[in-house]
Parts: sequence; C-alpha cells; structure tokens
Amino acid sequence: MQEVLDVMLPFYKDKFGNPSSVHSEGRAARVSLDESREQVAELIGARPDEIVFTSGGSESNNFAILGVALASSSKRRDIVTCEVEHAAILNPLKQLESLDFHVDYLPVDNAGRVDPKKVESVLTESTTLVTIQHANSEVGTLQDINVIGNLVQKAGVLFHTDAVQSVGKVAVNVNALPVDLLSISSHKIYGPKGVGALFVKRGTPALFSPVCGGGQEKKRRGGTENVPAIVGFGKACQIARDRLNNGKLEELRKLRDLLRKRIDEVIPNVEYFGCGKNHLPNTLSCGFEGADGEALMIALDMEGISVSTGSACSSGTGIPSKVLSAMSLPLSRINSSLRFSLGWVNTLGDIDFVVKALAKAVLLSRRKSS
Ligand SMILES: *Cc1c(COP(=O)(O)O)cnc(C)c1O
Repeated sequence: MQEVLDVMLPFYKDKFGNPSSVHSEGRAARVSLDESREQVAELIGARPDEIVFTSGGSESNNFAILGVALASSSKRRDIVTCEVEHAAILNPLKQLESLDFHVDYLPVDNAGRVDPKKVESVLTESTTLVTIQHANSEVGTLQDINVIGNLVQKAGVLFHTDAVQSVGKVAVNVNALPVDLLSISSHKIYGPKGVGALFVKRGTPALFSPVCGGGQEKKRRGGTENVPAIVGFGKACQIARDRLNNGKLEELRKLRDLLRKRIDEVIPNVEYFGCGKNHLPNTLSCGFEGADGEALMIALDMEGISVSTGSACSSGTGIPSKVLSAMSLPLSRINSSLRFSLGWVNTLGDIDFVVKALAKAVLLSRRKSS
C-alpha cells in the first residue's frame, strides 16, 4: 500500500539511526519505534509495553510456544492445541515432543470448530500452555476463544492464540478476551513482510527467549529492530483500525456474500466449507463437485486471478489440505476445493469477472474428469 511504503522509505535513507544508539539519530529512531508500538497496541487494545516486535507471525508463534514451554517447571510438560493450526504452531510443538513434552491435538467438527468442552477435558495439573488459533487461514472459521480462554485461565494455565488471520479483519480487543499471548503478522494486514508482534499480557511469567542478543525489546527479543518494517507495520495497523471503525468490514462481508450468491447463480453443485456465522468476513472456501481445484486455480491464474487450494504454504506439495482433512472431508471433495480471499482493493466489477472465469473453468474441468 502506498501509504505504508511512504512512511517506510525515509528509514532506508536519511533516518538510518539505530534505536539503541544514544546520539540524536538513534534517539529519533527510538521515538519512531515507540510510536509504531503504540499503533500496533491500539489496534488490539493492548498497552505498548505488552507488544514485542518479532520477524513475523511464525516467530511470534514460536516465541509464545517455546517461550512458555522452556520456561516451565519440569512438572509441567503438557501442551494443548488443535489439528487445524498453522505450521508455525504445529512444528515448534513437534520439536517440543522430541524434548519429551506431551502435546494433545484436539479434533475439530466439520465446520472446523474446536469443542471448548474437549479443551476442558484434557487440562491437567501438568498442562503449561493451551494454544488455539483465532481464525483459520484456509477456511476462515473463527474459534470461540472467549469461552476456551476462560476455561483455560480458570485452570491456571496460560492461553495463547494465533490471531494472524483475524486481527484487522474482525475486532480483536485483548481487554475483552481471556488471552495471555497473541500473535500478529504485518503482511496479513497490508504491512511489509518479515515483521510481526507478540502480545504478552502484563504479569505473564518471564518467557524463555528464543532470540537472545542485546537487550532489545526489554530483553525479551534480541537483535537490532527492523525499524523501516516496524514503522510500516505500525501504519498498516493504524489503517486497519480506521477501516474497522468505519464499517469497511461490513462492505467486505457484503462483497464476499455477493461472490457466493453469484457463484450459486451460475454454477451448480457447489458446497461451502467453514462455519457460516463464526467466519472471517473476507474469505470463501468452496468445493466444486467433480472439478479439480488445482486445474481451477491454474485456469484462474491465467486470467490474472490469484486464488489458493489449501494454504499458501502447503499448496504445491501435493499433500491434501490438513485443515479440510481434519474437518472429515473425503479426498474427492478436498481436491475440488478453492479458497477466495477478498481484500480492500476488490470491487463489484471483480466479482463479475471472477465468476465468469470460474464458471468457464469449472465447466471445462468437470467435462475433463467425467
Ligand atoms: C500467515 C500465518 C502465519 C505466519 O505468519 P508469517 O508472518 O508469514 O510468518 C501464522 N499463522 C497464521 C494463521 C497465518 O495465516
């Protein structure tokens, strides 16, 4: 976004100070860093000192998980999560399993939701952390983190949520949510890539720090801060907040609902995945019976339309979507699926253009496979 780029550029040129330096250039960088921290904090209702800058959503998730686990007492070796988490949750957990931690992977129903009662049923005295995502990146389902977090905190256990997909798209206020740790990523809200933040609620016991270095970020995360990226991230948060406050998300939701309506008007036998009510406003995950999702994606790409099958990270591997598999969908339906993510740039005209190209692609793909 131009506005984001505009605030970043000076920090690659004349505003080159290191925020840890004491000279005036350094102090100026420090001031900008602090302003950005306020902008990020404001988007989620946090206090600035509760924001730790990281290299992105993946690091924030690793930081939360390894940070809690490796600082826990030897009696608390159990962690609870669910099957549809992002790889940046599942993979650090896998590493902990090799260090003799025990992880419970809770199942989801066919809308992709975790049953809070299941969370409650696996909590024990040795549970040290529960990490359940806020929104799913593939199907857009929102988990009931309010109910889940309350249960978890009542049991005296720390609760982390990966809110990378939900922040900026639905209202997220850490004052009203029972969360101790929450991950955000800049590039999912139109900021630069390679920067993010971990919200660490005041009073949370000290975390193990996966990145040690100088005393940056109040000794929580070492390394010279990526000032230009952080400044862009702050601006992106401010813009996201303005949009949330100005009802822009309702517009996005209407556009998404229109996409669905138009698809239904021209393409028979389409199914939709996820949880109708508890769902992100901008994503649409659907299956086109008898068609091949990969072929549809390529056909749309040739028209300049970018859509995904599965997650961006796992697509291209040939492995069926873990999320749709966890939602108990058979392979044939998973292979017919596509995910549309609408953004601020999309217009009514885009909807017509997409549906026209999609109808053609589905017809061709269905003909080929029958
Ligand atoms: C994109 C994403 C991440 C990873 O964030 P990066 O900034 O790309 O490292 C983590 N969790 C979810 C749910 C995501 O969608």
